[in-house]
Amino acid sequence: KAPQKRRRSPICATAASPPATTSIKQEVTRRRNLAIISHPDAGKSTLTEKLLLYGGAIQQAGAVRSRRAQRGVVSDSMAMEQERGISITSAVMTFEYEGKRINITDCPGHADFSEDTYRTLAAVDNAIMLVDAAKGLEPQTRKLFEICRMRSLPTFTFVNKMDRPAMNPFEIADQIEREFDLLTYPVVWPIGDGDQFRGLFERSSRLVHLFERGQRGKKAVSSTLPLDDPSLKQVIGDALHAQLLEDVEILDTMGNQWHYESVLQGDLSPMFFGSAMSNFGVELFLRSFLEMGRCPPAKDSSVGLVAPDGESFTGQVFKLQANMDARHRDRLAFVRIFSGVFEKGMKVNNSRHGRSVALTRPQGLFAAERYTVDTAFAGDVIGLNNPGVFAIGDTVYTGSKLAFPGIPSFSPELFAYLKNPNPSAYKNFRKGLNQLLEEGAVQLLRAREDEGNEDPILAAVGQLQFEVVQRRLKDEYNVESGLEPLPYSLARWVVGPSDPWKAVDECGRLFGVFCAKDRWERPVLLFKNEWGLNNVLADHDIELKPWAFA
Ligand code: GDP
Repeated sequence: KAPQKRRRSPICATAASPPATTSIKQEVTRRRNLAIISHPDAGKSTLTEKLLLYGGAIQQAGAVRSRRAQRGVVSDSMAMEQERGISITSAVMTFEYEGKRINITDCPGHADFSEDTYRTLAAVDNAIMLVDAAKGLEPQTRKLFEICRMRSLPTFTFVNKMDRPAMNPFEIADQIEREFDLLTYPVVWPIGDGDQFRGLFERSSRLVHLFERGQRGKKAVSSTLPLDDPSLKQVIGDALHAQLLEDVEILDTMGNQWHYESVLQGDLSPMFFGSAMSNFGVELFLRSFLEMGRCPPAKDSSVGLVAPDGESFTGQVFKLQANMDARHRDRLAFVRIFSGVFEKGMKVNNSRHGRSVALTRPQGLFAAERYTVDTAFAGDVIGLNNPGVFAIGDTVYTGSKLAFPGIPSFSPELFAYLKNPNPSAYKNFRKGLNQLLEEGAVQLLRAREDEGNEDPILAAVGQLQFEVVQRRLKDEYNVESGLEPLPYSLARWVVGPSDPWKAVDECGRLFGVFCAKDRWERPVLLFKNEWGLNNVLADHDIELKPWAFA
């Protein structure tokens, strides 16, 4: 198939409900998918709930949370999730709004699960960066944002909790621009904050949306006044009125220019403010997002760009999960569709081993509940039953052979030998470990032959990942395990045009550096700190990368 010319994602006009029979192109252009990235507690669950509310996907706010409480202990990692009140599993939530189909891929906000979150970001076309108005940028937001940047994801900013005392909005915008090197374009602007929060000014329509606390669980109905309406001053008060006029003037004369192409390239972030809890500013955001968000774009592959409305079905596995339901011991592979139409029961090829697989029990996910999918298009995510045939990064396709670039795994920061104290449990130990590896719950390294011992080395982004591995080995495979921490904190993959092992050998003895290899026998150097890493870079002609493609 000839490479397709890169096409710009069109700005999709707000369409009415789709006609009964729609073409692939129509289905693709009405799709928007997104992931919300945030530091824990910024209000992601609350915002998600409110968005679903607009789609009528849930009847009342609180449903996402109560679903969480109701679903009981369905797997062991979820038991941990419940104990600690953190979200470990990603789910996909889909809803329809004004003719558009929105897929929200939930990524866990907890720092220790960033691996999973990173992969989720490989499967979405837009990111929403949720910021707590009182706190501004927080560590987890920073880390996740780097990934959005690397993938040039269009990134929208939603500054939440304006009903509480907040930082100056200019300061928040400035922080984003300075730290992320990302320009901002406020689409709405807040009027006051905390007790003094009076509403939002919408720049395109020049309308002020007045803040009224929405009743819990109900859509907020807000009244609007034009900026030049004489009664505005009285409604919001003299001081806030004067402040608003001044702010608007600054934005209009000194703020960044609107440039849609820059939004699509991830260089300009449309910025929103609001209060998810009071359901204020959420609908304004949703409507703008549907207009400005990127539709499923053409995707790079081994045979050139694949158009999302192409006839052949293509997709990529970005996440695996086992034992989501303890009663069924199932394994699911999550596939992001990149082109064509998915139909239940269809046969697809897997580019990694060339075998064909019938996709018989496809599932969509609504939070933790599943429903069966009959057809799906580019931009959708489906969950496939996975009896061990799919691995992360696998390309599935019909038609002529192709493969999408791999999904990077991220630089681990904690390393420990994983010990099996009971040799008779060896088989189960191996089996459990292989399963967790395949799922991507953790990365596994081994010491190079002449260094260290033969036990597998767990490499994790956070301590919690270790705990999850040990707990799951115990609960799902009935094996005990022990950890022996290694004193390293940085991993670098050796890359370069020639044989990477040769490059390592040419360095000679590297003091204070641990030489390991990954699953694919690629060299990985472990460093105690940045200083050790910089020394090696200064002394040797070697190219190192913080991640490798799976
Ligand atoms: P997550 O950890 O990011 O999913 O955050 P949650 O949605 O669970 O919210 C964390 C806390 O912040 C909860 O107590 C929410 O009720 C509260 N919260 C969320 N949005 C707002 C908001 O707009 N205003 C205020 N005042 N509180 C909020």
